Amino acid sequence: MAASYDHYKSIANLPDKISSKKKKPKLVAVVDEDNCTGCQACVPFCPVDCIEPVPRDKYNIPIPPVQIRFNECIGCSVCARVCSKLTWDAIEMLPIAKFEQEYAIELTDEKTPAYGIPKTAK
Ligand code: SF4
Ligand code: SF4
Repeated sequence: MAASYDHYKSIANLPDKISSKKKKPKLVAVVDEDNCTGCQACVPFCPVDCIEPVPRDKYNIPIPPVQIRFNECIGCSVCARVCSKLTWDAIEMLPIAKFEQEYAIELTDEKTPAYGIPKTAK
């Protein structure tokens, strides 16, 4: 029986208490919305509680995918492990510089604004 539980060993425990970001991390979690089932299995594992369902009015579907408040994420990768071990494989951990370039969003040492600062075209 032990072998059947090995699969779950690399998943973190649920957090005892919710903390918050202290400085800009090296990685940030990004959800592939086309791959996310909206099961919310990842949500209670996030130690800073920064995963939430996409607002219903964005897609108007019964079970929306989840999204990350990028600038609150501490890059711990727990959500990505939970998703790939328990459900699917819809979360990618991106290096901050790559994320900021691809999404044209600047992240800060603080946790506000929650989704970072949009970079404006120069
Ligand atoms: S565990 Fe994966 S599939 Fe489920 S809501 Fe989270 S990201 Fe989406
Ligand atoms: S990597 Fe995932 S679990 Fe960790 S802080 Fe970011 S969103 Fe939360």
